Amino acid sequence: MAQSAPYKRVLLKVSGECFCRSGESGLSMAEIGVLVDQIKAVTEQGVELAIVCGGGNILRGKQFADVSRGIKQPTAHYMGMLATVINGLALQDALESVDVPTRLQSSIPMDSVAEPFIRRRCDRHLEKGRVVILAAGTGRPFVTTDTAAALGAREIEADVVLKATKVDGVYSEDPLKNPHAVLYSEISYADVLSQNLKVMDVTAIHHCQEAEIPIVVFNYQKPGNIARAVAGERIGTRVLP
Ligand code: UDP
Repeated sequence: MAQSAPYKRVLLKVSGECFCRSGESGLSMAEIGVLVDQIKAVTEQGVELAIVCGGGNILRGKQFADVSRGIKQPTAHYMGMLATVINGLALQDALESVDVPTRLQSSIPMDSVAEPFIRRRCDRHLEKGRVVILAAGTGRPFVTTDTAAALGAREIEADVVLKATKVDGVYSEDPLKNPHAVLYSEISYADVLSQNLKVMDVTAIHHCQEAEIPIVVFNYQKPGNIARAVAGERIGTRVLP
């Protein structure tokens, strides 16, 4: 049973892997549809929702620079940020096709494609019940959209960061390599950092720790799980002080 929503404002991080079929790259509108159905249900709960898009289904800067002659790392990272805008545009139209009002804001100015990210304008959109899709990460190279999600959550004063993944939460070890790996229901930021657990990147964890913003890592592929996470049900792994 869903409890009454404990969160007023939520930041949902959707990685690039949510935009394509497992093991593939590019975009799959069918996969995006899985997200969209759940996001629509969340907006009906009356929660203010900002979404940070990843871009790894198209390009990750570091990996691309490592294998590409002649591409400088910053260039590759900017390409990765542009990938998040492609995902953001797809998500925006998919949400609007089911009557969810949205705004796309980009940390890299691109006026004909998206609004610039302006915190106070983002606030107003959220207050009016629009889903705000935040694209282009932080707008600067060498970091990831996890960091953009943590910084975004701090900036818009979100009550929680929900990290949608294709696994059930945070495990003590890789469950594919060790079937006895333990799924944590709760873990502290300090333990995540000291055990080097793969939750979000280290900078993102530090920001959430400093601002005491809880992180919930959960499997969004189970129908209704985004709404359950928003409603504060005990799913996945909660990272707390
Ligand atoms: N990126 C960046 N600065 C940011 C956010 C992202 O340079 O503030 C680049 C980085 O190269 C990253 C890529 O954009 O690899 C795609 O983002 P990310 O890897 O976080 O996507 P995800 O893993 O969530 O799909």
